[in-house]
Amino acid sequence: MATNDELFKKIVSHAKEYGFVFPSSDIYDGLSAVYDYGPFGVELKNNIKNYWWESMVQHHENIVGLDAAIFMHPTVWKASGHLDAFNDPMIDNKDSKKRYRADVLVEDHIQKIEDKITKEVEKARHRFGESFDEKMFRETNPRVKEHQAKIDEIKKRFYPALERNDLAEVKAIIEDLGIVCPISGTRNWTDVRQFNLMFSTQMGSVNEEAGEIYLRPETAQGIFVNFLNVMKSARMKIPFGIAQIGKAFRNEIVARQFLFRMREFEQMEMQFFVKPGEELKWFEYWKKERMNWHLSLGIPASKYHFHDHEKLAHYANAATDIEFDFPIGFKEIEGIHSRTDFDLSAHQKFSGHKIQYYDQETNEGYIPYVVETSIGLDRTFLAVLSHAYKEEKLEDGTERIVLSIPPRLAPIKAAILPLVKKDGLPEKAREIMDNLMYEFRCFYEEKDTIGRRYRRMDAIGTPYCLTIDHQTLKDNTVTIRDRDTMKQERIKTTEISDILKANLKTIR
Ligand code: ATP
Repeated sequence: MATNDELFKKIVSHAKEYGFVFPSSDIYDGLSAVYDYGPFGVELKNNIKNYWWESMVQHHENIVGLDAAIFMHPTVWKASGHLDAFNDPMIDNKDSKKRYRADVLVEDHIQKIEDKITKEVEKARHRFGESFDEKMFRETNPRVKEHQAKIDEIKKRFYPALERNDLAEVKAIIEDLGIVCPISGTRNWTDVRQFNLMFSTQMGSVNEEAGEIYLRPETAQGIFVNFLNVMKSARMKIPFGIAQIGKAFRNEIVARQFLFRMREFEQMEMQFFVKPGEELKWFEYWKKERMNWHLSLGIPASKYHFHDHEKLAHYANAATDIEFDFPIGFKEIEGIHSRTDFDLSAHQKFSGHKIQYYDQETNEGYIPYVVETSIGLDRTFLAVLSHAYKEEKLEDGTERIVLSIPPRLAPIKAAILPLVKKDGLPEKAREIMDNLMYEFRCFYEEKDTIGRRYRRMDAIGTPYCLTIDHQTLKDNTVTIRDRDTMKQERIKTTEISDILKANLKTIR
């Protein structure tokens, strides 16, 4: 069994070799934490986007879409609080010259203690078998209690320090916990400083009276500033949602985890506007809906959990993350936040425009509250890819790498493969390709042995291979090979479209 680290490296190199993800500007040795999607990557990414869009916009009458510009008026970021507070506390190790997020160093330390507790629990579960009572064990085992007390103590000191922006105390905590730099192994730390994550640039020519503008760090603000436009033009009544997919940019301090933490990435966000007082009901509703969406990808429930926020942002009255079991551990894939009326009120104040909803039943106007669901497209891509990646030993002793991507999301739905490059088989195969290509993303290939071509299709996750052989010329049948079972069946060419349609419709 590969360790998680090795597995992660294999996934990264598989993604490059098979045309899913390339480092940006690869011939110049790449650009840190920026990636390009290759021929099969872009298909998978588009399929994930479409699946999200369908389930959010098409399947909800009261959710409409938007595609706002990346550049926005600079005051937007003053109002949203990003100019003043979209910071991460950073700290450098003077020996390795490496930069870290101070909060991540402390959270990793807490995680290590939590791992010790998990180990104790698993050992005990093994020892006691069926009769094991985990809750009781956690409450009574002295070693577990001691670890838990340490965690509680760190959290009690750490979160208030972050809240107060007391950076000297954050540094003191790192020193007191004896946290060392993983590269140099030393505790030779600089002071903790705040670092704003927004990228800025200049609008217009430099000589003109040009303002500094920012690349948006989240797509949500494009939705908030268009609240009135959308509500009026699409005649929306509360509760309703606005959904958007688009790029966001953050100058991340720690950016060493492939698609997990990028400086340019894509978000799929939906802001749901509700009557004040009803937000927690909708928060629960969207928590459930969004978890069901993840599970509908065919990934088992054990790979996901909720992580409720202990430290709420000042504008939120409830927040949770859906975390996914990436090869780098359980980490956030989606945030669900009850943001109150913070954003709309701020934009009302800074723009001078009244941003209100008029309730015709009660004859009252109010600023709606907002529940947002915000999922990273690239992190979802990474989740699908890493769950799909499998190395299999076959009965004949050979090995294969297969991506068991849910057929509906697979980059290529069917490969059209003439068994040999002669005897009229390519012509027959082309005829089939021409019929199917308007319905499904297909891939035609006639080079190499059929076995090699199957392996290649397995490695990019193509659910079906259609092989055209000499018998096809006689009776218009082809073999259809299933990626996961590798079973082959003969079917009539006239049946291909219906069989593919039936199997590609459902995501599982
Ligand atoms: P993290 O704590 O991991 O930095 P966050 O809490 O800042 O994430 P949000 O602001 O809630 O993230 O953004 C919503 C979603 O956008 C996240 O759940 C994640 O999937 C995605 N996302 C955020 N930052 C990045 C990034 N640098 N690279 C890729 N995806 C990202």
